[in-house]
Formats: sequence, structure tokens, C-alpha cells
Amino acid sequence: MARYIFVTGGVVSSLGKGLSSASLAYLLKSQGYKVRVRKMDPYLNVDPGTMSPFQHGEVFVTDDGAETDLDLGHYERFTNISAKQSDNITTGKIYSEIIKKERKGGYLGKTVQVIPHVTDRIKQFIKTDIKDEDFVICEIGGTVGDIESLPFLEAIRQFSNEIGKNKTMFIHLTLVPFLKSSDEIKTKPTQHSVKELRSIGIQPDIVICRSQQSIPFDQRKKISLFCNVPIQNVIETVDVRTIYEAPISFYNEKLDKQVLKYFRLKPKKKVNLQNWKKITKTVLNTKKTLNIAIIGKYVNLKDAYKSLDEALIHGGIKNNVKVNLIRFESDKIKKNQIKKIFKNVSGLLIPGGFGKRGTDGKIAAINYARKNKIPFLGICFGMQMAIVEFAKNVLKIKNAGSTELSKNVFPVIALMSEWNKNGRLIKGTNKNLGGTMRLGSYEAKLRHNSLIHKIYKSKSVFERHRHRYEVNNRLKNKFEKKGLIFSGMSPDNQLPEIIELNNHPWFVGVQFHPEFKSRPLSPHPLFCSFIKAAKLN
Ligand code: GLN
Repeated sequence: MARYIFVTGGVVSSLGKGLSSASLAYLLKSQGYKVRVRKMDPYLNVDPGTMSPFQHGEVFVTDDGAETDLDLGHYERFTNISAKQSDNITTGKIYSEIIKKERKGGYLGKTVQVIPHVTDRIKQFIKTDIKDEDFVICEIGGTVGDIESLPFLEAIRQFSNEIGKNKTMFIHLTLVPFLKSSDEIKTKPTQHSVKELRSIGIQPDIVICRSQQSIPFDQRKKISLFCNVPIQNVIETVDVRTIYEAPISFYNEKLDKQVLKYFRLKPKKKVNLQNWKKITKTVLNTKKTLNIAIIGKYVNLKDAYKSLDEALIHGGIKNNVKVNLIRFESDKIKKNQIKKIFKNVSGLLIPGGFGKRGTDGKIAAINYARKNKIPFLGICFGMQMAIVEFAKNVLKIKNAGSTELSKNVFPVIALMSEWNKNGRLIKGTNKNLGGTMRLGSYEAKLRHNSLIHKIYKSKSVFERHRHRYEVNNRLKNKFEKKGLIFSGMSPDNQLPEIIELNNHPWFVGVQFHPEFKSRPLSPHPLFCSFIKAAKLN
């Protein structure tokens, strides 16, 4: 039977619960155990799909098409285990299911309540779709003391009581601040946070203390005493220099050892940290830098393109360069500034996006990269804009555009239902956008001898999608005659998945999001190749 490890956070948010859970998962997996990592989010959105990246950072997409919290991206990148729909739940989802059931009379006249109905559903989520896993690490979003997270904490308390302390463990992550004025490390916030947790019946088994500097023995003793945790289980996590150091740091702090000891288990294999050490060294020691311009809408928010930033760094590690991301907000770009943007830039990346704002700047930049032979990678919306640019400026279709941006365009990009068989727009089609996204993993067949074929070294690939609009396939011949090749197609040959330019060193657009599948220990070939081309530029 699986053992369940619940990870909660206290004092402040953004302490790195996701990274801690992911690192622990890696360490356990590396010692021969089968692991699953899940996230419970206390907010009322049904999923993060409709949330602005400004609010919540990137929406991470799983193979099976779930739009999830970006922490699932951390889990995947560290464990290399594909997350599933069943690994992320929100309060909104739970409530919407419960209310639906109630409307159908599913509760047989009972009063529907947080306890037991909501907590029962949470407990069910924790166990759903678990088969032969040895460990299920379950992160609870938010901070202890939030009103929103209470039902989750109550549910994990009940869960532990039901399946037994020997099969469940509570890890609490807190902040141990350093006060400059008194030159002291302070344990009081941790004491209070654990007190809060204990007041709802949860006694942590391990306290992970996030701190700027190493915590002296006396302070650890204090935490142990006040929080009722053995001193070996007061684990410190001092800010790492790069996130790839986190598994090494937690190993040195014996987090995995204490977890196994708690469950009376022994490692089945010796932990392997060689690869993490190698990439940490590369990240910290690489001097050569490479500037990549990213033009997008949410460039000023740190986590809005989390997986993308990571994938570019992975590509840099593979090529022994430090990738310097220079972010430009698309709607602030004036046409006459384009040349300036490219001054010290070796490659251009246009990421995924939605809506009209800032598209002119993106198109102008793509035009510059195409003409001046600057390596270009267009992802999803970025690829669509490359098609629009080419249609306007090379095919001379003056009003070429995407129907996402205006209805008065010649549709080179449109909802599939909007085309007639000549590739022209059908007026007055269904404008309903709900439930029309292509989400999750789809296959693309790659054209023999194309650049993309050489990059992937494979005839077919599976990549993750998150979009509504598609490239109008009926113009394929026109594009190809002028040198823009549709080098990846859906297996039924209907949907263009990848485009590339002949007579250009490196110009690729992909309808999917390759960044979701890049891992620090196995960087994605597309990003490796893009960075390599940029390095040569
Ligand atoms: N807005 C575009 C679409 O829906 C692209 C989406 C994206 O870049 N993820 O097709």
C-alpha cells in the first residue's frame, strides 16, 4: 500500500513547497521507489485554465490534457514522471462536482456540508488513480491559517487517522528569517505556524526551515522543542544558487533519509546525484552568455512563462552557454525600434499567447528575424503569427490574419469550423469558445529530411497542445512554393503542426508547447537545436 506524505506551508507563501516536494520525489524515486506527486489548490477556480498568467503564473498542461498548476511542471521536471489530470484538484472543482451531485438528488435529501462531503471528496482525490505507487506526495497550496485551506487540512488529518500514522507523514515548510538589526535567526514564526497546524490536529513529523543562512544547533533545538519534532527532523533549506541544486541540498540535509526512517524503509538503490551535480556546475560556471529575445504579453511576471524559461536554460546547459532572456512587452514595441531589439540578440522567441494586444510588434519582429536570418522559434501563437507575417509579406495576401484577432481577415489562422473548403471564412459561424481548446498530447508526423526531422531524429513526435485556432491547411501549397514548409502534420494530414523556412539558418514554428516536456536532465531537442543555432549566429 502507498504511503502518503502531505506537504504544507506556513508563515508566508512562495517558500518553495513545490520545489521541496519535487526534490523529495526525485530522491525517493532515485532510491528505487515508485512515486507520484499531487497538488491540492484551495482557490475557487475549477482549474487554472481561465486564470491570467498575471495572477497565477503559467498554466501547465499535462499529456492527458489537464490545465494545471505550474507546480506540476516542477514535479515533472524533477521526477520525469508525467503528471495526470488526477494529480491536481481545486476547491472550485470539488464544489462544482458536489453541487452537481446535489442538484441531481445524489445526496438523498441529506444536508450537504463541508464535513463530511467536501472532506470526503478531498480524501477520495488523494487516493484516486493510485495503484502500485510506494509514495504519494501531496502538496497543499496556500499557507496554514488561510480560511481557504482549512477543509484540505481537515481532510488530511482525517485521512491520516483513517489509514494510520505509519502510512502517512506530515511535512511542514516554514520560514526562519534572519533579522539584520539584531543579527539573529528567528524561530518564532515557525513556532507559531506549527502551533496553528497543531490547533487543527496536525502534528508535523518533519519541519523544513527555509532560511537565508544555516541554522545554528541551538535554534534547531528550539524549533525541535517548541514544535515537538525530533531534532533530526528539523531540516534546513538554505537558499540554493540554482534550483538544480535543491535535490543535492535536501540529500545533504538527509530529508529522504528521515522520510525512509519514519516509514521504516531502506533505500533499494543508492541515490544518484551525479547528473544534478554536473548541471549545477555547468549553470554556475558557464561564463559565455547568449541573449535571446522573448516578445510576449506577460514578460514582466516572473512565473508567466515558467516552463519556457526553464526549457531555454536547459538548452543553454546542453550547449554550455548561459541563456540570457531579454524580455520585451509586445504592445510597447514600435516598428522603428525593431532593429534596436535585435542589437545584441542571437535568437528570437515568440511564445504562446491569446488576443490581439501586441500582435503588430510580434509580427514586425518575426519579419525582421526572417529577413535577417536570425534564428527564430515560434511557439503556438508565435507560430501562428509567423504564418500571418509570411502570408502578408511574401504571399501578398494583404488582409491575411487570424480570426482570433479580427473577423475581417483572410483566415490563414481560424477555428476549424470557420473555414469553407476553399479556405475562406464562413460568416456567422459558432462563436462559442467554451470547451473548444485542443488540449494535451497529440501526434505529429515529421517530413523526411526536414530540419525538424533532423532535430527530433524521429518520424513522429507527441507534444502537448493548448490552443483553439489552427493554421489553414488549404493554403499549404502556396506557402510551400515560396519556401515555408509544413514539415509536421497531424497523422490525418489535416492540421499543420510544425512549419520551417527553407533558405534560413533556423526558423521553426510549432503549434504545440515543447517547453512542457523539457527536463533539466534531458533537455528538449528543439530548445537544444534553437540555442545551438543562436550560438552560431
Ligand atoms: N490564441 C491561440 C489559439 O487559441 C494560441 C494559443 C497559445 O498560444 N497557446 O489558438
